[in-house]
Amino acid sequence: MKKGNLFVYSGPSGVGKGTILDKIMEEDSNVYRSVSATTRSPRPGEINGVHYYFMTEEEFYDSVGKNEFLEYVKTYNTSYGTLKKDVEDKLSEGKDVFLEIDVKGALNLKSAGVKAVYIFVAPVDISILRERLIGRGTETLEKIEERLSISSWELSKAKEYDYLLINDELDKACDELKTIIKASRLLIRNFDLSKYKW
Ligand code: 5GP
Repeated sequence: MKKGNLFVYSGPSGVGKGTILDKIMEEDSNVYRSVSATTRSPRPGEINGVHYYFMTEEEFYDSVGKNEFLEYVKTYNTSYGTLKKDVEDKLSEGKDVFLEIDVKGALNLKSAGVKAVYIFVAPVDISILRERLIGRGTETLEKIEERLSISSWELSKAKEYDYLLINDELDKACDELKTIIKASRLLIRNFDLSKYKW
């Protein structure tokens, strides 16, 4: 079976990247969002194994020791990591696998030479992020300010990615993401060229 594509998908907190991907996944059952591991506590409504694998520091660093992560970072005093097994299993099933990860993790993958389609989601104006984070109501004001200062650094790294999605209109951003997914299925590295009579 043809392997799926790997997508590295980042953007600052509150930009709406999760919402765009949720919409895509409703329409395209071949798209899979990898479930990361984290040491932070679940927010109301978050389910272990669905939104994240919630781990203690000890469990997390035990997995690090066993080389079970494709990448991991420590940020906001919390560790986050992408589990190799989750990604590899789904790619070999032919799924298009999205890693919704922070910029540090994405750049680590890129410099390690991991072949993926790197997508950055950005707002038109950074002030929109503050409004969205306050509206979401899941973080204290102090945490929001901390996230915003990281966001401005993250935005400065957008140029390291392959594609830019400006989320000023949800439907437009979703259409653009669908186009990227479609085009990625035609990447020459995904073809078995020996099949053709050339
Ligand atoms: P949150 O705590 O809001 O769920 O996520 C905080 C940040 O961690 C987000 O930017 C999210 O994309 C990032 N993140 C989530 N999982 C991973 C992961 O496995 N690796 C990396 N590098 N970042 C992650």
